[in-house]
Amino acid sequence: MKERTLIILKPCCIQRCLSGEVISRFEKKGMKIIGIKMAHLSKEQAEYHYNEHKGKSFFNFQVRHITSNPVILMVLEGDNVIKLARNLTGATNVDEALPGTIRGDFVLHTPINIVHSSDSIINANKEINHFFKEDEIFSYEKALDNWI
Ligand code: ADP
Ligand code: MG
Repeated sequence: MKERTLIILKPCCIQRCLSGEVISRFEKKGMKIIGIKMAHLSKEQAEYHYNEHKGKSFFNFQVRHITSNPVILMVLEGDNVIKLARNLTGATNVDEALPGTIRGDFVLHTPINIVHSSDSIINANKEINHFFKEDEIFSYEKALDNWI
């Protein structure tokens, strides 16, 4: 079933010049980029985004990190894209992130794990609505669609 998910390339991703590499992995998988932009998130936006983690040991660091420098936000579309994007992203804990995944290949430390990927339909919708206006999302056909 066609779904949409929200990806954030965290400040550490941009600072390490990995944006193109990470975007490319999602693109090559066949996921369609239907929204993309750069933003410097506010504290309020970050706290809302990480709301479910409020009170956990890593909450304050994540809020500080994701607001420290610009991020790239993307909406991806595709069949089962929420789960499949999480698979490409890899496990949260770096000890468990397998080689071949983005985190497995590029991350040494869990708090600066370069990419956020929505974990459920409910959160994907919440996150997309939070970061993107309707006219920032594009519905379009690609000639390759039937081959993916
Ligand atoms: P994910 O990004 O895989 O969905 P979570 O939503 O559980 O992971 O956590 C949000 C972010 O907080 C993670 O991407 C990671 O950077 C950081 N984080 C999660 N768990 C820990 C932890 N145990 N120690 C330090 N940082 C963590
Ligand atoms: Mg999460």
